[in-house]
Amino acid sequence: MSKYEAEIKRRRTFAIISHPDAGKTTLTEKFLLYGGAIAQAGQVKGKKNTRAATSDWMEIEKQRGISVTSSVMQFQYEGFCINILDTPGHQDFSEDTYRTLMAADSAVMVIDAAKGVEAQTRKLFKVCAMRDIPIFTFINKMDRESRDPFELCEELEHELGLDTYAMNWPIGCGKDFQGVYDRQNRKVIHFTSNTNARAATATEIEPDDPALADLIGQARRDQLVDEIELLDGASCDFDMDRVRHGKLSPVFFGSALTNFGVEPFLEEFLRMTTAPLPRRAGDEIIDSFDDDFSAFVFKIQANMNKAHRDRIAFMRVVSGKFEADKEVYHMQGGKKIRLSRPQQLMAAEREIIEEAYAGDIIGVFDPGIFSIGDTLCAPGKKFKFDPIPTFAPEHFQRIRSIDTMKRKQFLKGVEQIAQEGAIQIFKTPYTGMEEVIVGVVGTLQFDVLEYRLRSEYNVELYKEGLPYEYLRWIVRDDPDAPPLKEEDLLLPNDAKLVEDYKGNQLLLFAAQWSIQWVQDKNKDLKLAEF
Ligand code: GDP
Repeated sequence: MSKYEAEIKRRRTFAIISHPDAGKTTLTEKFLLYGGAIAQAGQVKGKKNTRAATSDWMEIEKQRGISVTSSVMQFQYEGFCINILDTPGHQDFSEDTYRTLMAADSAVMVIDAAKGVEAQTRKLFKVCAMRDIPIFTFINKMDRESRDPFELCEELEHELGLDTYAMNWPIGCGKDFQGVYDRQNRKVIHFTSNTNARAATATEIEPDDPALADLIGQARRDQLVDEIELLDGASCDFDMDRVRHGKLSPVFFGSALTNFGVEPFLEEFLRMTTAPLPRRAGDEIIDSFDDDFSAFVFKIQANMNKAHRDRIAFMRVVSGKFEADKEVYHMQGGKKIRLSRPQQLMAAEREIIEEAYAGDIIGVFDPGIFSIGDTLCAPGKKFKFDPIPTFAPEHFQRIRSIDTMKRKQFLKGVEQIAQEGAIQIFKTPYTGMEEVIVGVVGTLQFDVLEYRLRSEYNVELYKEGLPYEYLRWIVRDDPDAPPLKEEDLLLPNDAKLVEDYKGNQLLLFAAQWSIQWVQDKNKDLKLAEF
């Protein structure tokens, strides 16, 4: 195997998804700690705590700078080169969060053992499921009172429509969380808390060893034996092929905070995942091991420096090797270019890099030429990767410039920011030129929009919140049919007909049930979610 092949083979690129507070940061930090990328716990965390919600742009930018730093991280672990894509939570949740998932080859889903599946887990899972990527579940916080493990697995299956296979089984929870039973090796791993060490001390013992009862108590031992029997009888077979296609999720129990079960999880995860996956470009499949370089842009970050409207474009290397001094072909721009100041994020720091391989994420300086989904490839081999889907916004505002004389700047600014992919814009057949409906995935984007319009375009906004939360595209069989009017449809009061700036029509709804209502009352209407 050439060095080149070996470099690609040892790469793993995954996203880490969860509802806020489930322990994503803590788990990531432990991974970095094991890989030696950070020296002590608290480094990633410390940064996160400085993030406060505020509508001041510089503050937002500062936060965004930090969230960039912690949004893609590379570290080495036992010969593997691992790229973790973080998916920001809380108010900086945005379309970017979803797009980031397009760059991953698998996902680690962190679940709080006391809470189970939560709203944001559900949303992020849905996007992962669209691509059928493998999903590994880590049920965290077992050192606290947790829900019944059988019930948690059932909930995953029921709520997410995903089969589960418990790789290990917890012995107790809360103060009484003593370890896990490793189902594959048929061994009990008994943990002893070890606060200062890298990992908890694990003692392995056979389940039928009489010493086990001494270690965990007779009652616990008996319960474990019963539960394992139940588990073996009830669960489906472990099928690696179904894992690889995202149909069966291996489930692990542990506690990121106390290090219980984290390292075994990381090791199993690395064993079960594959080298970077190929991507589709129309009829072609672009394999990671292809000799030629290719990449796609999945995220664009406005720069902090207001004087230069430059940005950083994040791209996922799909195939081959990226070399800083080589020219690449930008398909959408129709030009050969050199990617300038390519950088990679290594745990807490950014580094300018000379080379990167399939699976890696690089950020390059963008003078304003890239858009989300753009393809970069070798000059001799041209193709376009399949586009990144647009995700439905969940919050809407009607906005206009307070000063009607600034209509032009207003529209230019709004359109430009929409082009960067931070917001989506719509109009109604009745809105005049001066008014725009803005849709976003996370509400922080409203603040960012307002600040940028003020500081970059000198426009003060009038805004009005709209009650809509759901969006469906109207699918027309005849592309030349005249646009629908509101009077052509039977709509409840809380639904609205709008169109995007490409002329596609869609409906906004305030409540989920009205979607069904509209479908029932308008039998010929075809609605699509993405
Ligand atoms: P994130 O929002 O998903 O990134 O969650 P964090 O990693 O920031 O964790 C949220 C809170 O839960 C913090 O106070 C953590 O210290 C705590 N936490 C994380 N993992 C565990 C765990 O395994 N056990 C316990 N008891 N607390 C945890």
